[in-house]
Amino acid sequence: MSLINRAFAVKADQEDALASFRNRFFIADPKMIYLDGNSLGMLPAHTSACINDVVENEWGTGLIRSWNSHWYTRSQQIAAKLAPIVGARPDEVIIADSTSVNLFKLAFAALQHNKNRKTIVSDELNFPSDLYVLQGLASLMGEGYQLKLVKSANGIDIDQYELEQHIDENTALVSLSHVLFKSAYMYDMAQVTRIAQQKGALVLWDLSHAAGAVLVNLNRCHADLAIGCTYKYLNGGPGSLAYLYVRKDLQAQLQSPIWGWFGQENPFAFDLDYQPAKRIERFLAGTPPVLSLSAIEPALDLLIEAGMDQLRQKSIALSSYLLDLFYKYLQPLGFKLQSPADAGSRGSHISISHPEAYRICRALIHKNTGSRVVIPDFREPDVIRLGIAPLYNSWCDIYDAVSEIKDITQNRWFEKFPQSKETVT
Ligand SMILES: *Cc1c(COP(=O)(O)O)cnc(C)c1O
Repeated sequence: MSLINRAFAVKADQEDALASFRNRFFIADPKMIYLDGNSLGMLPAHTSACINDVVENEWGTGLIRSWNSHWYTRSQQIAAKLAPIVGARPDEVIIADSTSVNLFKLAFAALQHNKNRKTIVSDELNFPSDLYVLQGLASLMGEGYQLKLVKSANGIDIDQYELEQHIDENTALVSLSHVLFKSAYMYDMAQVTRIAQQKGALVLWDLSHAAGAVLVNLNRCHADLAIGCTYKYLNGGPGSLAYLYVRKDLQAQLQSPIWGWFGQENPFAFDLDYQPAKRIERFLAGTPPVLSLSAIEPALDLLIEAGMDQLRQKSIALSSYLLDLFYKYLQPLGFKLQSPADAGSRGSHISISHPEAYRICRALIHKNTGSRVVIPDFREPDVIRLGIAPLYNSWCDIYDAVSEIKDITQNRWFEKFPQSKETVT
């Protein structure tokens, strides 16, 4: 059976051992194709009931008593579920704050630790918020501190040799995204970590586009530090709390710049002097938003049940299928591939570019253009990202989405949409 007809996709879905996980999500429109799980994961069907229970029983009935019975250790409890997904020990991960704030906390701690070195190395394809935080930190640290960015030759990947050249005896910290947000290029975490550590630098990995999408093993890579969000492939909900990881043997040597009471050795002693907790809790600051925190657990349970090995296999199979269809149907229409062609150095989304990418995106999302709604996302200046979330995306999703992109482009249906951009793309 040809790869290129829909019957192939239907059959592949029938044989997919993970197919039933799609029904564990809230589906408002069964015909809609959601390819933006790399920006905001879908709502697990069970989450509403969990949150409702937290609201009515834990908050409404339990009131303040629920701090002892449920809430005080919830961050640790969820971290323990997340730890195996990123290849860490439960006592090396904590759920707290946002990714940007966690980056600041850990990058600051790393600079304090490597005080005789004043350079931070990152790359020009890193997520802008990460670069802003690092710029701000370098400026706050003062005289001599600087952020050096490794350039990309093609806008898709970073040459590892080029990166190596930037790391020297003045590098305090190398801060990179494991999977790049635009192209989905994936660094070799083990190798980069080794190179940086050999030169005496600490390495901080942003796992936002990696956790839940690819196999991450922080312990096996002997990674120093990591952060990431829980609202993309981890499906924790809009703006859900982020996480941070500090390798066990580094914990006692590093200190958070925010000395809040949740990071104090004994918060309820109400001591007047700050004494940092001995363990990972020292990187907490203040009271977590319990409602949002509670939405992360049911989402992680689904990932754990499906298994990361199986999910990664399905992600590679779906993205390879998407590439086959891309070469056959979209490349001839002027689309260019903006992701690595090799699955081994690619995360779980595929980026393609086209001069009319923005209007094509608008047409895909609009319900009266084409035969169904497809939700990808657009990234400046001309990139469409097609996110593949193996927990709920199907072969038919991929086939039908490519058909829609092809029809909209070939028939120029995008022309009825304006060029002007909406606030959130
Ligand atoms: C999504 C993402 C973030 C998000 O940061 P917030 O503080 O949650 O807004 C940070 N870094 C990377 C690499 C991301 O992909």
